[in-house]
Amino acid sequence: MTTLPARYFDGLSARGHEVLLSCEAGQLRLQGEGIQRCETLNAVELSPRLGHTRRRLLFVDGAVCELEDSPVLDTWFNAASHQRWNLLARLEAHWGMIAVAFSVVMALTVMLALWGLPWAAQKMAVRLPQEWVVQLGKGTLTGLDKALGDKTTLSLARQQALRDGFTPLAQEGAIPATLVFRDWPRLGPNALALPDGTIVMTDQLVALAEDDRELLAVLAHELGHVQERHALQKVMASSGVAALVFMLAGDVSGLANIVVVAPTIMTHLHHSRALEADADRYGFALMSRHGLDPVWFARIIRKLEAYHKSDAEDAGKDDSMSDWLRSHPASEERAHHAEQFRAQH
Ligand SMILES: [Zn+2]
Repeated sequence: MTTLPARYFDGLSARGHEVLLSCEAGQLRLQGEGIQRCETLNAVELSPRLGHTRRRLLFVDGAVCELEDSPVLDTWFNAASHQRWNLLARLEAHWGMIAVAFSVVMALTVMLALWGLPWAAQKMAVRLPQEWVVQLGKGTLTGLDKALGDKTTLSLARQQALRDGFTPLAQEGAIPATLVFRDWPRLGPNALALPDGTIVMTDQLVALAEDDRELLAVLAHELGHVQERHALQKVMASSGVAALVFMLAGDVSGLANIVVVAPTIMTHLHHSRALEADADRYGFALMSRHGLDPVWFARIIRKLEAYHKSDAEDAGKDDSMSDWLRSHPASEERAHHAEQFRAQH
């Protein structure tokens, strides 16, 4: 085994000790009179070669070894640094694994938000206990009333006349539906089906219609949303984590968090075209069974389209109307479907 003579300073006293250095399996050994020291090479620093100066080995505790330069020293330390590189390479491989794992977790989170939540919302919406659904619907209407007002300008007789037309349509469905009226100028002519089956029709919509059958057509469409639990799904899917925690934990206090956001979801997020088409089909079939021509739906939807278009041109109004147009890109198409339905049945 190669040995190199060196002078060792323990870092405590200025006195040097003569020692012999040897190296085996990455371990540096110092042996001398009264000196026995063994260190892993990775823990020892070798001073760089500078001309013909003596080399120094620096230990972490401040001890130093001085010796004549020798190619053997480089052999020992190069082997050790190679091992160090291997270690770094291994660590790097681990970082790679960590990055991969992180990416997978992120991707799963995004997938959960994009597809998992709507899917879970759809599955859970039909399984939620009725009392929670009722609570959610009541909370939603209360929130809307706070934001938009809780009155109607319609006389009791007028309300009753419309309810008389609505009741036979509503009685067909498995989920009970009720009809309420509200004077909501900010929402304009509109009707909303809330999560619990309450349908709100605005006085502005009643004013826009020229025939009550137009209003019944809208109500038949809204009953489609009620029977398919569209509002419940929408609120559940859109309130995101709150809904997920609520559904998984079944914690009723979670319901309060959803109720807070539900009115905004109801007025700002619209159903997808697919859901609208579902509700349309339900509405047309329901109307036909009750001797109502689906063409009334075509009439009112064209009126709504015209109203919202002219309203959007009124500068200075909030953007609720441009919202309406964005969410109802296919009004003409839907009117057409109503007319086709009439032709086919
Ligand atoms: Zn709709």
